[in-house]
Amino acid sequence: MFVQQFFVFLLFFVSPGQQSFLTFYIFQDADFLQEALASTITVDDFTARLFKIHQQILKEGRSQSIVLGLNRSDYMLDQRENDTPSLKQIEINTIAASFGGLSSRTPDVHRHILKMAGRLEESERILDNNPAAGLARAIAKAWELYGSEKAVVVFLVEDVQRNIFDQRYVEYELWKRNIHVIRLRFEDVFKAGSLDQDKRLFVDGKEVGVVYFRNGYMPDNYTSEQSWDARLLMERSRAVKCPDISTHLAGTKKVQQVLARPGVLERFFPDQPQAVQQIRATFAGLYTLDLGPEGDKTVSMALAAPERFVLKPQREGGGNNIYGSEICQVLEQVKESTERTAYILMDKIHPTPVRNYLMRQGSPLKISNCLSELGVFGAYVRQGKDMVTNECVGHLLRTKSSEHSDGGVAAGVAVLDNPLLF
Ligand code: ADP
Ligand code: MG
Repeated sequence: MFVQQFFVFLLFFVSPGQQSFLTFYIFQDADFLQEALASTITVDDFTARLFKIHQQILKEGRSQSIVLGLNRSDYMLDQRENDTPSLKQIEINTIAASFGGLSSRTPDVHRHILKMAGRLEESERILDNNPAAGLARAIAKAWELYGSEKAVVVFLVEDVQRNIFDQRYVEYELWKRNIHVIRLRFEDVFKAGSLDQDKRLFVDGKEVGVVYFRNGYMPDNYTSEQSWDARLLMERSRAVKCPDISTHLAGTKKVQQVLARPGVLERFFPDQPQAVQQIRATFAGLYTLDLGPEGDKTVSMALAAPERFVLKPQREGGGNNIYGSEICQVLEQVKESTERTAYILMDKIHPTPVRNYLMRQGSPLKISNCLSELGVFGAYVRQGKDMVTNECVGHLLRTKSSEHSDGGVAAGVAVLDNPLLF
């Protein structure tokens, strides 16, 4: 995954702080999540399953008032003819937002390469970036508030974890603070985990203060009923979850679409028109496919000009979206049934391609038209009503060839990159 790729980028101000408030307000508003996801959970089994856990937790009462959010909000620069370019949000990741670790190392890689190429001045313009430290700082704060020196931080991971080195950078930042980290899979928690009478989570006799989910965001991550049982056990526990089930659901594409509806941001920021305006300015057009006249209009619009849109199911991890003529094929099949509510429709964002080289192991170097996506990491910790910390902890730039509509680094399409400011 070594990448040397340079890109000119205008850095706009985006506020992960506001995004954190928004995610937290959604977490608190059970009615909103219920309304927003009502149609989706009738057809999407995975979201329905997560929602069932969310409901069970609300019924029992949350056993932990500390909330830890490590989010990454992703943007592309929309540059249409005659319009001023603006950053539009692609999505927000509230679970397992990755590459905070590796993107802490890429500035040095690119600086080194630029120096070797005799371009000292450019090498000095690569921004410092250390999301790993910031993400770990928030985890450490949550662990400290949990209040037990013996407690460990669990990284909940997959069996075969290709992205382990990304995670390790965050992990080592915690070890530096003398916080003990263990890596567990769902099955480990299922076999060796239990709650005591105060709902404290113990795995193999170790008390768990924080669970950081780097797994559990897609159906395949739940390999058996045991995985679901383990997720429920952790959600019910007093360990701080990153994210807890409600915050996980707040990051679904359906919620993103509902937030773009008129009046919805105002519900969360009733006295802050400026915040509403700033957040809304980053939204691209997002359209419902719920049954009814509004959803019917979305279907006709998409069928008439599919190249203008992206059709998105409620999935994470890249490679799931539908583009171009395939949008028509899918919509023709589902347009008369509730199945269409598993998707949302989004305006396609149009960045101007930049000619550049993408370097990947095993692929020949060739110049291609490249598009970039900027991720901004936000880390927050709340305790009850207090926002204890809420900061922007760094960025991620991913660049891919414009031949590919979809797909990130893990999907084998994009490469890790750095903004080079002029
Ligand atoms: P995932 O959860 O799978 O990462 P995303 O919404 O981030 O889903 O979409 C995956 C990729 O598809 C993005 O990284 C981006 O390259 C492309 N993409 C998504 N939405 C749009 C859009 N509205 N316009 C242009 N490209 C998009
Ligand atoms: Mg994405």
